[in-house]
Amino acid sequence: MFKQLTAKLRPGEPEQVLLERAKSKLGGPVKYFRILKKSLDARDKNNIFWVYTYEVSDRPQQQIEPVYRQIWGTMPKVYIAGAGPAGLFCALRLLAHGIRPVILERGKCVEERVRSVEKFLEEGVFDPACNVQFGEGGAGTFSDGKLNTQTNSPSHGDILRTFVSFGAPEEIAYLGKPHIGTDKLRHVVAAMRRHIVEQGGEVRFSAKLTDLELKDGRLRGVFVDGVWEDADALVLAVGHSARDTFEMLLGRGIVMEQKEFAAGVRIEHLQAEIGRAQYGRFSDMLPPADYKLVSHAAERAVFTFCMCPGGTAIPAASEEGGVVTNGMSDYARGGTNANSALVVQVKREDFGSPHPLAGVEFQRRLERAAFLAGGGGYRAPVQRVGDFLAGRSSSAFGSVLPTYARGTAFAPAESYLPAVLCEALRAAIPDMDRRLKGFASPDALLTGVESRTSSPVRIVRGEDLQAVGTEGLYPCGEGCGYAGGIMSAAADGIRVAEAIAEKY
Ligand SMILES: Cc1cc2nc3c(=O)[nH]c(=O)nc-3n(C[C@H](O)[C@H](O)[C@H](O)COP(=O)(O)OP(=O)(O)OC[C@H]3O[C@@H](n4cnc5c(N)ncnc54)[C@H](O)[C@@H]3O)c2cc1C
Repeated sequence: MFKQLTAKLRPGEPEQVLLERAKSKLGGPVKYFRILKKSLDARDKNNIFWVYTYEVSDRPQQQIEPVYRQIWGTMPKVYIAGAGPAGLFCALRLLAHGIRPVILERGKCVEERVRSVEKFLEEGVFDPACNVQFGEGGAGTFSDGKLNTQTNSPSHGDILRTFVSFGAPEEIAYLGKPHIGTDKLRHVVAAMRRHIVEQGGEVRFSAKLTDLELKDGRLRGVFVDGVWEDADALVLAVGHSARDTFEMLLGRGIVMEQKEFAAGVRIEHLQAEIGRAQYGRFSDMLPPADYKLVSHAAERAVFTFCMCPGGTAIPAASEEGGVVTNGMSDYARGGTNANSALVVQVKREDFGSPHPLAGVEFQRRLERAAFLAGGGGYRAPVQRVGDFLAGRSSSAFGSVLPTYARGTAFAPAESYLPAVLCEALRAAIPDMDRRLKGFASPDALLTGVESRTSSPVRIVRGEDLQAVGTEGLYPCGEGCGYAGGIMSAAADGIRVAEAIAEKY
């Protein structure tokens, strides 16, 4: 007998209870047990509980493994530029169809990348080819590894199970708000690469795509490491920070357009205060609390994004002379501070030019201004929320100390953000405090600049997912404007792989 069950457990109540209930429903021993979904219902702070959906059976169930076909002799030569989630999941799905892709990645393998990033964080030695944005695993490798998504792709279940099969915690397959944590994600990414290679794919590091050969509206070849190579298809999974690649593509006549995004600051609070505000007396019995807030108090929408409970604000530059902030947590989310992007909608009119890459220039201006405001050495400008709201400079920290590893310097947000963005933040912070008590705490910190929230361009593709006017070129993932996080980038990689498999 096979049954799907639902149950509610109080914080601290052991999951063993689920098994006991299953036993009584089946009227005998439980041979198969799988949690399908686990989410926290914290709408009423006095009545918080976990909600489970799970399946059980009195017979063992078999795991279904993907079957790889061995018909590679006749397959097309497919290149994938970028080993982020879009590129990696595209490669896995192509292999499942018997197509052996070549992945080109401008950065290093994840093991060496970790060392490059540590050298930057600790000594300020910056590598423009391998950093928090570039290298195996893509932009989200040094992240909280949050896997929630606003999109609803049929691939989501597959993606989560794939992460689990490469070593991610099993709970991500059923938790309402799953996350892997940067410490575990690095090993998952390495395991994915080993599998791709074992299955016949090729992964090249320090291999930047620098040009395309196009003829009669078709892709003919790719230029990598000074060598032209014939190609039938190229998946562009280069991420939102591949500014030089966007320039090359524009130069080759690939159709692209401006895309609006959001910019602002990273806000840090004490995690314990966020926990108390969200869960009240239950906060010590529950995982570190998160939040998601939107404010329409100003003319422009302001929202929090990529919240990292118990995490650190991370230096995330990919160009020399620019300061970029982002957030990261370990799986345990055990740090003292909570951090989140706090960003304002940026409009095309802010870019100051109709040029397709004007959004890139806008980001660059903010990042250089933040670098100058931080006084160099990739230190970030920081201001206490109380001082920001009162319109004065900060001169000392209060209860919240910054976690940004390159160090900080006191500077007002106005020194790197346009006035219209600062005004919106000033209206939004007290408004958000009405929904999350303590959000406007005077000691909370604003660290700048949060500029890489999503791609400033879209590379236009048709219904067949090929770039408009260029057969064989497949814009994919976040950088080309088709995703906004790890899950949606992975899902887009799968969609593109299916389109290629369909074509060939
Ligand atoms: C610090 C940080 C924390 C984040 N936290 C989260 C989170 O918790 N949850 C979440 O969902 N999202 C998070 N994100 C966003 C998420 O990482 C991205 O949405 C996602 O990685 C996009 O995937 P992608 O494959 O499209 O591009 P990317 O992951 O950006 O991968 C693109 C890859 O292409 C490579 N590349 C670029 N140009 C070339 C070229 N010319 N030739 C060869 N290779 C090239 C790059 O080196 C890079 O590895 C975070 C991002 C950052 C920076």
